[in-house]
Amino acid sequence: MKEFHPGRPSPGYVAHVTEAREARLAHNESVFRTVNESINGIAIALGGDQPYEFICECSTSDCFERLVLTLAEYEHVRADGAYFLLAAGHEDIEVELVVETHDAYVIVEKDGVAGLAAHDADPRA
Ligand SMILES: [Zn+2]
Repeated sequence: MKEFHPGRPSPGYVAHVTEAREARLAHNESVFRTVNESINGIAIALGGDQPYEFICECSTSDCFERLVLTLAEYEHVRADGAYFLLAAGHEDIEVELVVETHDAYVIVEKDGVAGLAAHDADPRA
């Protein structure tokens, strides 16, 4: 294995890191959606109509842009499993279709294979 060098714990360690990195790149948006679902769950438990901070679900792995939405607004995004919540300007028009534009955020729909993957990873499916 080309990646293996003496001093590394094992070839399996290298494979694991590579796998994790690819998974992060491929499923970053779904990961942040899962985080947002947790925020949503907490918000529902606390009750009330005040806005909560959700996280941008764009494909940039180091983006932690906060987006302030009410629960109703967030539920609207989650109504379709292919829709994602992004900070305005974070959309990738090559793989995403902007379906709604708001002041601070946009709602995008995943195209093609990315859309199917998004459906597969839908935490509510
Ligand atoms: Zn972003």
